[in-house]
Amino acid sequence: ISYSADKGWHDAKITPRRPLSIDPASTVLHYGQEIFEGMKAYREKDGHVATFRPEANASRFTASARRMGMAELPEDLFVQAVDELVRVDQDWVPSGEGQSLYLRPFMISNEVFLGVKPATEYLFIVIACPVGAYFSSGCVSVWVSEHYTRAAIGGTGEAKCGGNYAGSLIAQAEARDKGCDQVLFLDARERRFVEEMGGMNVMFVRKDGKIVTPPLGGTILRGITRNSLIQLAADQGIEMVEEPVDIDELFSGAASGKYTEAFACGTAAVLSPIGKFVRPTGEAVFGDGKTPGPVSQQLKKTLTDVQGGRTNDVHGWIHRIS
Ligand code: PMP
Repeated sequence: ISYSADKGWHDAKITPRRPLSIDPASTVLHYGQEIFEGMKAYREKDGHVATFRPEANASRFTASARRMGMAELPEDLFVQAVDELVRVDQDWVPSGEGQSLYLRPFMISNEVFLGVKPATEYLFIVIACPVGAYFSSGCVSVWVSEHYTRAAIGGTGEAKCGGNYAGSLIAQAEARDKGCDQVLFLDARERRFVEEMGGMNVMFVRKDGKIVTPPLGGTILRGITRNSLIQLAADQGIEMVEEPVDIDELFSGAASGKYTEAFACGTAAVLSPIGKFVRPTGEAVFGDGKTPGPVSQQLKKTLTDVQGGRTNDVHGWIHRIS
């Protein structure tokens, strides 16, 4: 779907995937006006195809567009565009545990203009690809990035824009070099409080039974999985608190048994238990570092049962497409 200031949103079409033709002076190539979403279409237990809370993705997309000075796509059009693509591609929606059709709605500025100001022409596109589980079962290991940060106050941390990822890829590469699967970012001001991971939010289980997750302060992505888990935990009588997590306290708390589990959550990762955090001065290990803890396992099952249509959709999160 194209946008121009004079015509508004127009020219919606579904075509086989093909290369885009982009003018070398397109603004996105120079100033990075690009935002995206990550969603999944699931094959439900009864064979129907559904997405999970697409209105939440549409609303975050609007917030990202606003932050980046981009045209706002009406949210019903966002949902309709995703629905129509999934309907066309429905035979590609796999069934089975951890399987889904990954959906990537995104928008770029494609005005041919080198001036430094928000563009007046945009292109909204959705592409799709079948995927399996992001991590194999077991626990992931996470490198604590003490050098790189992902988002500054007043910056674009809360927007889902490509630029945030461009700046954090090197930290992810560093984590791999250190033998870890993922990276954890700390706050940019003090390098003291846990923020989030490269493509996931993070949560911790305490011995007192509460789950703690860092509060959204404008520098963390408003994860839809995070929000869903907060509600699902409440349904089960588990108290979830949004409060700052000090990295030193996390390391000492893992050693003393104050923190018993940790896990990452996001559309791609669903809920991935974390076995250990690693930094130059030592490790914070949960359990034996390999076996997912009981709270993580239980919440993962609750979430995937809702997404896979195996349980009652009490919150109305399942958006059936076919
Ligand atoms: N944080 C970051 C940086 C992400 O890229 C993602 C994935 N979109 C998340 C958190 C989790 O968000 P969601 O649950 O909406 O996928």
